[in-house]
Order: sequence, then C-alpha cells, then structure tokens
Amino acid sequence: MVRTEVVSSRWKADRVRSAATTIFAEMSALAVATDSVNLGQGFPDYDGPALMLEAAEQAIAAGVNQYPPARGIAPLRQAVAEHSRRHYGLDYDADTEVVVTTGATEALAAAILAFVNPGDEVIALEPFYDSYAASVDLAGGRLVGVAVFGPDFVLDLDELRRAVTPATKMILVNSPHNPTGAVLGRAELSAIAELAIAHDLLVVCDEVYEHLIFDEVEHLPLATFPGLRDRAIRISSSGKTFSATGWKIGWALGPAQLITELTAVKQFLSYVSGAPFQPAVAQALDSCDDWVTQSRLELQGKRDRLAAGLRSVGLEPAMPDGTYFMTTDVRPLGYADGLEFCRDLPRRCGVVAIPHQVFYARADAGRPYVRWAFCKSDPVLDEAVRRLGTFS
Ligand code: PMP
Ligand code: GLN
Repeated sequence: MVRTEVVSSRWKADRVRSAATTIFAEMSALAVATDSVNLGQGFPDYDGPALMLEAAEQAIAAGVNQYPPARGIAPLRQAVAEHSRRHYGLDYDADTEVVVTTGATEALAAAILAFVNPGDEVIALEPFYDSYAASVDLAGGRLVGVAVFGPDFVLDLDELRRAVTPATKMILVNSPHNPTGAVLGRAELSAIAELAIAHDLLVVCDEVYEHLIFDEVEHLPLATFPGLRDRAIRISSSGKTFSATGWKIGWALGPAQLITELTAVKQFLSYVSGAPFQPAVAQALDSCDDWVTQSRLELQGKRDRLAAGLRSVGLEPAMPDGTYFMTTDVRPLGYADGLEFCRDLPRRCGVVAIPHQVFYARADAGRPYVRWAFCKSDPVLDEAVRRLGTFS
C-alpha cells in the first residue's frame, strides 16, 4: 500500500533551520552510492590507541552499561582536568568545573542554549562549523560571522572589532579552525581577549582540533590569556584526539557557575551517554600522550602527501596549520562553484569532497573553495589523487 503523507506546514517550528540533512551526511551517502573515495566528512579510516579500544571492550564485558553520573564519571573528569593542567597549565576542579558531553556538538549546543537569549548576538569566525548556526537558531539568537576568508584564510580583526554591538553576548572561537585549517596566533587571540573583556562577552572556545597541529605551530587556549579564565568555556572531544568520532565523548571546562548552567541544559538534551567509552577515554587521556604526538606527525605526513597530489592535478592547496582538512580553489578545473563541483565529482571521477559554501552565512562567500579531508590511509589518499588525475 502506498501511503500519502500529509504534513501540515503549521507544525513546523520557525526556529528549526531546515529539514535538510547535513552536507556531511549527504556527501558520505553519495560516496557510498557511487563507490567513491570519501575525502568529505571528517573521520579517520584508522583507529585510536589499542589500549583505549580494549578498555572499552573490557568495560562492556564488565557491565559498565548503565547510566553514568550526570557530569560524567569521576576518572574521566579528573583526566580531562589533568590533561588541561599538563598541556596548558590551566587548572580546573574536576568536580565543579568539568562536564562530559555527547561529543563537542552537545557541549556547544548546551553552551549556546544556556547563555543565548532571543535577540542576543553570537560572533563566530566565518566560515563556521555547521552546528553553530543551527544551535544559535534554536536559541533564537543571531549568528554574526567575522571573515576568515580566502585565499589566505586570515581572521579580519577590523571586521571583528566592528562586529561587536550592544547585543553581542558571546564569541565562539574555533581554533584550529574547520574548514580552513587556520590556527589563531598570539596577536589574534590577544585582540579577541581584549574585546571580550572590554565588552563583557562570554567566550566559547571550540578546541576539538587542539592536538592536530603541524610544524612548529602552537595551540594557545584563549583561557590562558589574562582575564579570560573566568569568562571562557573550553570545549574538546575524544573523537578528534583519539580518532573515535563515533564514540561521541566530549567535554566542557570552565568556571563552576558556567558549567552548572551548561549542565542544566545538557541534562535535558541527552542526560548522559557513552558509559563504557568514558573509562576508556579517561585511560587514553592519562596515558596516551605519546600516541597523540605520533598520530600528529603521521597526520602531518598525510597533509603533505595530499597537498603534493592535489598540486599534481592542478589544484593548489592553502596549507593548513591544523585540523585534518585542506582547501583548494577549484576554478583551475573549470568550476566557479564548489557545490556544483562536489556534486559532479563522484560521478566524474569517484571522489567526494565538501564545498566551503555550506560553512558561510554570506551568500556567495567561499564559492570557489572545496575542503578535502586527509585523515585517511596513504593508499586511500593516493587512490583519490589517481582518480582526480582522470578528471575530464
Ligand atoms: N566542532 C568542530 C569545529 C568540528 O569540526 C566538529 C566535528 N566533528 C565538532 C565540533 C563536533 O565534534 P563531536 O563529533 O565531538 O561532536
Ligand atoms: N566535523 C566533521 C566535519 O567537519 C563532521 C561531523 C558531522 O558529520 N556532523 O567533517
């Protein structure tokens, strides 16, 4: 029997952005349907540390399968706090200043829903990760983009200063930055810190790529800047650091009062999640610094490998200082529009990438740019380049 669905437009909530799937899901489905090499959605095709994977298996076998505590298990909160102290000299109290979340996505959503009122403005670096706009919409706020535009993808500090209005409540700072791979330096971060203090803004720092940085580049958390510890929420995720994007174990650190407000929202989004993964991630944070360093070096090799391959087919990448993404302008291949290019590419040569346009609020911004993920095994990267070489 064929059912005809009648869906009343009256039912749709205005604050919901759209019923469309994310570009990442769309492109991954297209990769499967066309048997393409998937350099689109950012997930590695290799696993995290063996110790962590075994710890999760053992936890399941040992019956760690029921609700964990609302803020996450104590060993994980302690490991997150200790990691912050060890790497950045930033002290947080594991009981009151740390909460475990369902990936960084939930931490971001809960932070935005907890602090943004209808009409409040949230500044974010544009292009921005897709969940920012959706969460700000859910809160009834207004997302104001500040350009990190090509070809060099450098933050426009003058635009940032001009973007602050009496309605600005929050600055959302993603560094290392998806999709451009830019890593903010001391001068840019100092300027953001000064603005935040001068205008009494809350700063939400999306640091999910904190360990995926290359060459001599350093990740400097904004919370280490004078006066920022008390107004910053730091968000990160085991998905990136330990190559386990499907586990969705993330966290937020910040002043106790802010974390309490964030947790109040989070408890009604997922309540809790990932019971057997939590002890495994705690162990990884405590004992896998060497694995993280090694993995970063390998990723740097992959960055250079894909960059050389893209150059060989006529695409000059903007070299990223961090993340596992790089960007090229696709005009040399005869396309003015990255979205059109990405929709054609799987059928033309069996490769999937992500168009930059989906990360911008401004119409036409980022139009010729395409993002390529290089968190893939070397043969997969080589095969993608070989296929791109047949592009005609
Ligand atoms: N922020 C950025 C900048 C990201 O690229 C991602 C992608 N995964 C997330 C947040 C979400 O992280 P998670 O998968 O831990 O929810
Ligand atoms: N963060 C990943 C990316 O940028 C995708 C995550 C998702 O699919 N929501 O590719």
